[in-house]
Amino acid sequence: MNPIPMVDLELQYRQLEKEINPAIADVLAGTRFILGPNVSEFEREAADYLGVKHALGCASGTDALHLALRAAGIGPGDEVITSPFTFIATAEAIAYCGATPVFVDIDPTTFNIDPEAVRAAVTERTRALLPVHLFGQPADMDALQQIADEHELLVIEDCAQSFGAAIGDRQTGSMGLAGCFSFFPSKNLGCYGDGGLITTSDSALHETLWTLRNHGRKAGEYFHEMIGYNSRLDEIQAAILRVKLGHIDQFNEQRRRVARAYGRLLADTDLVMPHEDGIGRHVYHQFTMLVPDGRRDELMQALKNERIACAVYYPTPLHRQPAFAELGVHDGLPVSEQVSERCLSLPIFPEMTDEQVERVAECLLKAL
Ligand SMILES: *Cc1c(COP(=O)(O)O)cnc(C)c1O
Repeated sequence: MNPIPMVDLELQYRQLEKEINPAIADVLAGTRFILGPNVSEFEREAADYLGVKHALGCASGTDALHLALRAAGIGPGDEVITSPFTFIATAEAIAYCGATPVFVDIDPTTFNIDPEAVRAAVTERTRALLPVHLFGQPADMDALQQIADEHELLVIEDCAQSFGAAIGDRQTGSMGLAGCFSFFPSKNLGCYGDGGLITTSDSALHETLWTLRNHGRKAGEYFHEMIGYNSRLDEIQAAILRVKLGHIDQFNEQRRRVARAYGRLLADTDLVMPHEDGIGRHVYHQFTMLVPDGRRDELMQALKNERIACAVYYPTPLHRQPAFAELGVHDGLPVSEQVSERCLSLPIFPEMTDEQVERVAECLLKAL
């Protein structure tokens, strides 16, 4: 039996190499390696796709979050409400600004922050909400925006896992003040190294971001308005992303096909399938289910025996991470803790075949 990986980046490359290789060769021959034409074209194309005025490439999803928070004026003394059930970069970006991440509990079915918990956590020092569209499923942006409006808070979206996810015709990354995307290779839209993107329709914020990402520099001149960063999207990565952007709708549709098949094949089990809550269109960056209490190790071993990959996203919520120990231990986040003990992510990628999905499902059915 061939192994089934979490994602098959080699297969995707083989399918796209006739488009990607010449795009890379053009960059090499053109030698405009830093902020060349592919970066600006990709920014235009991504902004059009996402339905925002501006998109700005940067070095990673982590930097996208950091720069967006900085540009929005988040700093020491400020609190930013976010999820404890996410990749650590979400909360690291808050800490980089000298602000304090405030973790609130999640919804047990979508794994996104619970708007009622957000409302209860607002204090005088709260400046922003940082929802994550986790695993590709949009957070409840309307409820969050309402809370933000009531308390005059900014909303910045962590879209690292949600390129192409939408609520109606509103793309994730177009609803808050800014959206922050990652192009880490395994993301729904991934490049062949690190890369990120910040979206906004606020032209003043865009101007600040533009300056911040390139050493605080104004257009053209060696004149530095502020202390900025070296956080540019690489030109070769931008060329790759322009090719892949042309395929993103099909990639996401294929992910949804795999998710539907898992849902069908595993419907009559004690596994709790991820489901779409009617808020928006899920693009299944991960297919993450909940397994019966105490059975995760055994199911992971059964998959491993059949050479099927699986992963735990995420085993330790951020409020339990040593990195955030100084915030003090929270006892009030039981859903995040239960979910991190029972979650299990299955292989999902656009090129996954029906036979592969069936093999995964059969293995689980047998083990259960
Ligand atoms: C991947 C990821 C990031 C960080 O992106 P990088 O490009 O790896 O820096 C941030 N937030 C979430 C939710 C992610 O999944």
